[in-house]
Amino acid sequence: MATAENQARVACPDCGLVQRLPVVRRRHIAECRRCARLLAGPATGRVDAPLALALAALLLLIPATVAPLLSVASHGAARICWLSTGIAGLWREGFAPLAVIVGAFCLAFPYLYLAALIAVLAALRLGARAYLGTAFRWIMRLRPWMMLEIFLVGCFVAYSRLRLVVGVHVLAGGWSLMGATGALLLALTQLDERTIWEALPLRGAAPLRRTKWLARRQATWDVSRGAGGDGSLGRAIACTTCELLVNDACPGAPCPRCAAVLHHRKPYAFTVTAALVAAGFMLYVPANALPVLTLVSFGNEQSNTIITGVLELIHNRLWPLALIVFLASIVVPLLKLCGLTWMLLATLQRSRRMLVARTRFFRLIDTVGSWSNIDVFVASVLVGLLQFGAIAQARAGGGLVAFAAVVILTMIATRTFDTRLMWDAPKGE
Ligand SMILES: [Zn+2]
Ligand SMILES: [Zn+2]
Repeated sequence: MATAENQARVACPDCGLVQRLPVVRRRHIAECRRCARLLAGPATGRVDAPLALALAALLLLIPATVAPLLSVASHGAARICWLSTGIAGLWREGFAPLAVIVGAFCLAFPYLYLAALIAVLAALRLGARAYLGTAFRWIMRLRPWMMLEIFLVGCFVAYSRLRLVVGVHVLAGGWSLMGATGALLLALTQLDERTIWEALPLRGAAPLRRTKWLARRQATWDVSRGAGGDGSLGRAIACTTCELLVNDACPGAPCPRCAAVLHHRKPYAFTVTAALVAAGFMLYVPANALPVLTLVSFGNEQSNTIITGVLELIHNRLWPLALIVFLASIVVPLLKLCGLTWMLLATLQRSRRMLVARTRFFRLIDTVGSWSNIDVFVASVLVGLLQFGAIAQARAGGGLVAFAAVVILTMIATRTFDTRLMWDAPKGE
């Protein structure tokens, strides 16, 4: 049995420091004492609130999918757009990879994420525990790729650009999409991952009793006795998914709680991240040089690159949207590529400088990284809606494929990089 002292010991996922986690009270948070990573959030202990909100989000997502989002009218012709219209438009124009990306990020993954989250939270409420660890691991992995809120902002940008040239109205599906996104974001603020993990039994351990599962912390498994008293892991391995400290585990063995493969550090983290960043830099040039969207108005074709798209928003005095698109499409991808290069070089040089700042910066680029997809979503909505032949038409451009590739490569790079390598390196000096 784990002792009370062992129960609260955790290894920070960002810097690897083993420390004792205090019992976090309502509205309090606990941060890593070395890198300030949030270890326990203000939503600790909640299950009913995220369950109810996720259910509301799923129920609102159904009308958002089946009802039309927007309608446009131009010179007597009208057109309505569903969530799937843009995806079909991209596919029709020969941009199958983009259609798959938009379909997965904005349609398939939100449904999958919400349905799986509701199933796991409901199963916890009902006392079932089998396979929940594996299911919740996949839910956490899916989160960065589920981009309903980013698609909604993309719809706002597309709506604002369309209003300049045609009459456009928000329909029932559009309002439902706003409701679904709001409920989803609220559900995420109420979801505390550690609460869920600590309610799950370890493989071979007896399941927790239903009535007490919220009050109890870690159950029956000798998980952290192997951790060194100096804040190092000692003989233990920290699971990077559920943050469990597993004593005397062999690298390559499955985590007893979430079944993720245990490693002291992510395998090949440095090499794979370096390769992804190099590929990202190479694609960044065509992503910005080639047109991402071509707009036809009364026979006149106007090809927009990412930067000219921003300039057009500024020209039309849509300052807040111009700022959002500029930050998301130009600043964030560059920050991610340069930031990861800085972190890789500093790791290579075993640098001690600015370790906390580097780790904080990594968390920032990891959090904001998926917002770069806004331009892809704006293009999908415009391509779906603006199809009035020679009067007004929108076509996707080759730059959009390169741009989407940059965003996805950098998102994978932040997943493959292991920030603990930065903290390990100076120790070898
Ligand atoms: Zn830390
Ligand atoms: Zn685990």
